Amino acid sequence: MPQPDTGKTVLTGLRVYAKSLLGLELTDKQLGRFSGFTDLLLEWNQRMNLTGITEPAEIAVRHFLDSLTLTLVVPRFDGLRLIDVGTGAGFPGLVIAIMFPDAHVTLLDSTGKKLRFAEHVCDALGVGNARTLHARAEEAGKQKPYREVYDVVTARAVARMPALMEYTLPLAKIGGQVIAMRGTEAYEESNRAARAISELGGELFAIEDIQLPTLSNPRHLVVIDKIAATPRRYPRNAGTPERQPIL
Ligand code: SAM
Repeated sequence: MPQPDTGKTVLTGLRVYAKSLLGLELTDKQLGRFSGFTDLLLEWNQRMNLTGITEPAEIAVRHFLDSLTLTLVVPRFDGLRLIDVGTGAGFPGLVIAIMFPDAHVTLLDSTGKKLRFAEHVCDALGVGNARTLHARAEEAGKQKPYREVYDVVTARAVARMPALMEYTLPLAKIGGQVIAMRGTEAYEESNRAARAISELGGELFAIEDIQLPTLSNPRHLVVIDKIAATPRRYPRNAGTPERQPIL
């Protein structure tokens, strides 16, 4: 008879997958934090909609391991400034903060209550290198403290690619990168976003295909280099990138 997941077996699985798939050694302290993160996610998810995934083993793969695949395209996070646009419950940004205590992570979302969850996780687990930013990406991208300052800008499941480029590229510094974590539509959407990418100062560098254990469909990391300043007229006002994407 199948046994229900216990926290211990789930975390052992995460440790094994992180090592075999990504070459990452998770310490006991990091595993403890991922365990605490799982508990808090499930607890808060009863009160607010943070995730549709409620099996701990699935959380380990679809949230933690998926977030950690960023290490396949960013070899060192230590010392980097990363902003995670539309972080929701903290994916991928908070996972990166837990894994790399010397990364400087900003978790941006327009929904304050999701950020309150992320703040609670940081407080409860002692994660000191992540801060939250309650704003729309279109607003943050216009403001001096955030515009063109980040080494890495990440986003998972936030918007379609052309609009997403207008949310993310203004935040990346020249020489930095945007990494869009996409599903099956990655190639088609990247083609559709070609004009937005070049207009906003980016250049498509690579699309990395990833097969996660237990999932049937591959995941894709679309990596865009920031090669030139974003013209001052971008990002346009909140809502415009979605309604009138640069095509
Ligand atoms: N990245 C998380 C993940 O993969 O689990 C959350 C994905 S959730 C589907 C999308 C999130 O993006 C929501 O929390 C939403 O509030 C946020 N979002 C959407 N558009 C945004 C914008 N223009 N500026 C800031 N946040 C935005």
